[in-house]
Amino acid sequence: MLGMLGGGQLGRFFVIAAHEMGYKVTVLDPDKKSPAGRIADVHLCTPYDDIKALQQLTQTCAAITTEFENVPAETMDYLAKTRIVRPSPQAVAIAQNRVMEKNFIREAGLPVAPFVVVRKEEDIPEEGVYPGILKVARFGYDGKGQVRVADATAAKAAFEKLGREVCVLEQMLTLDYEVSVILGRDAEGNIAAFPTAENSHLNGILDISIAPARAPAALHEEAHQLAIHVAEQLDYVGVLAVEFFVSDGKLLVNEIAPRPHNSGHYTIDACATNQFEQQVRILAGLPLGDARMHSYAVMVNILGDVWGKGEPAWDKLFACPQTKLHLYGKHEARPGRKMGHFTVLGKDVETVVALAMQGRSDLGIGSLTW
Ligand code: ADP
Ligand code: MG
Repeated sequence: MLGMLGGGQLGRFFVIAAHEMGYKVTVLDPDKKSPAGRIADVHLCTPYDDIKALQQLTQTCAAITTEFENVPAETMDYLAKTRIVRPSPQAVAIAQNRVMEKNFIREAGLPVAPFVVVRKEEDIPEEGVYPGILKVARFGYDGKGQVRVADATAAKAAFEKLGREVCVLEQMLTLDYEVSVILGRDAEGNIAAFPTAENSHLNGILDISIAPARAPAALHEEAHQLAIHVAEQLDYVGVLAVEFFVSDGKLLVNEIAPRPHNSGHYTIDACATNQFEQQVRILAGLPLGDARMHSYAVMVNILGDVWGKGEPAWDKLFACPQTKLHLYGKHEARPGRKMGHFTVLGKDVETVVALAMQGRSDLGIGSLTW
C-alpha cells in the first residue's frame, strides 16, 4: 500500500500507475469526489491535519508521497517520523513558499529573474524591478495571486489588494518562450530526466506543451544540467519539475514543483516510462524506468470552459487516430478548471503541432496562431 497526499488529477494518474504495477493506494483528500479518491483503494476523506487519518497512513502505507506542494509542513513532518516520505518535507517546504524557493534558486547559483522579497510596504523599491509582477509567497497557482505592476505606486496598491501577505516582486521579462524539465531521482542519487517540454500559457494556465521543445540542442542540455543541479542541491528523492523562462536566449529558473507536472503529461503517451510510473518506482524503491521518448508529442489542456455549450465535440478529436484523450473524472466543469487533456503523437514536430492545433480548435479552445 502506497500513500498519496492529495486527490487531484496528478494523484489520479499516480493511482493508475500504481495499480498497473500491482500496488494499492490510500489517498488522503478532504473532497469526497476527488479524482484520485474515487479510484483509490482507500480514500481518507478528512482534512490534511486529521491525526487519525495520518496515523492510518503511517500504519498501513509502506511509503507516502504528495501530488501538491501545499501539504501542511506539520503533516509532512509527522508522517516522515515513522514512514518513508518522498520527497522530503524540507524539499516540499521550499517549493511551497516563493520566498524560500527564489532564495534557494539564487543561493544555489542558478540564474533567476531579478526579484525582491516584500514583507511590508517599505520593502517595495522605487525602481529596479519594473515593470514587475507581484506574486504571493504561498498558495498561488495557475497565475492566481499575481498582479502585474508598472511602478512602485502600482506595486503598493497591489500589495494592499493581495492582503499585505508576504510576496515576491519579480521583474517582468520579455520571454522568448518557456520550457520545463521533469526528472526522477532515486534514493541512490540516480537521475532519469524526461525530454525538455516547451510550454505556452493562456491566462496564466498551461495551455500547450510541445515535446521535445523546439530549441537549440545546447539549450536542452543546459536545461537538463540546471534541473539536475536543483535536484542534487535539494538532495531530492522523487519526481521534480523545474520550470524555466527563456529570455534573450538565456535560461532562468522560474519555479520548482515537488511532484509530477502538467507539462509532463505528454510522458503518459510518448515515453517508455511516464512521470507517474517514475513516481511510483521511486517511492517503492524500485530502479528508475527509461525516460526516453518514442514519439513527438503535443499536449493540450482541456479546461472547463469547453463545456460552455454542452458536451465538447469529442467525435472530432477521435477522428485523429494519433490523439489520446484523458479526462480526470471531475464531477463538475468550471471555467479555468483543468478537466482533462489530449496528446497528439507523431514522427515529426510540425505534423504533431498542426494536428494538435486542429484538435484544439475543434474543441473551441482559444484561437492561438502558431
Ligand atoms: P504559477 O504558480 O501560477 O505557475 P508562475 O510564476 O509560473 O506562477 O507564473 C505563471 C506564468 O506567468 C509563467 O509561466 C509566465 O508565463 C508568466 N510569468 C510569470 N512571471 C513572469 C516574469 N517575471 N516575466 C514574464 N512572465 C512571467
Ligand atoms: Mg508556473
